[in-house]
Amino acid sequence: MRLPYPPGARSGDRPAAAKPCSTCGELTGRGYPSCLGCAEVVDQLWLADWLALLAAERVSAGTEDERSLAAQVLLASDGSYAWTCTDWALRLLRCEECGGELGAGDPVCLSCAAADASRWSWSESAPPGSLTPGEQMLRLAVLALRAPQRRRVSAVSAWRLVVPFLLVGDAVTSAQLRGIRAAVLAGRYADLALLDRVVELANLPLLPWRR
Ligand SMILES: [Zn+2]
Ligand SMILES: [Zn+2]
Repeated sequence: MRLPYPPGARSGDRPAAAKPCSTCGELTGRGYPSCLGCAEVVDQLWLADWLALLAAERVSAGTEDERSLAAQVLLASDGSYAWTCTDWALRLLRCEECGGELGAGDPVCLSCAAADASRWSWSESAPPGSLTPGEQMLRLAVLALRAPQRRRVSAVSAWRLVVPFLLVGDAVTSAQLRGIRAAVLAGRYADLALLDRVVELANLPLLPWRR
């Protein structure tokens, strides 16, 4: 029997440090989801939980049974499955309204908006510690990169910059994220991308001549 609110993204392997991806050359995670090297490292945290669920339910990947399980996960009450499994289930299903990935399709699709909103009720009702701030940030970042058309360009860029640090378990505060987004809006993305610590990104002076 599963305990309610099983944690997510804790059984996969996280990189030990933010390092350049051997496929795209950016810090690992920044090329998500188009770079296969970055995608493998990021998705692995979600996939480990989904594969464990498949094994527990005796369901094979890539089958119609897997899609049925995905639908079952989405219909279950909050806390029945890990949040990573909810995200993966959404990925396995197509939106009937816009044809995109369920919850991540057309920006104006109401069906996707509802599916995306429902995934967040897990973290609202979960007991403390079920989802750490770092896990919540990683979830937000990865979802933003999967559905950039549903967010502002500057927000997506800020998430892209911090993903490598969230992956290794570094803390990124909302204030730091706002600072990074402000620097992105000031046209400093390329400078930010060269830095290798979150504090440096968050403290980049917005006006270069004041350095
Ligand atoms: Zn990459
Ligand atoms: Zn849709």
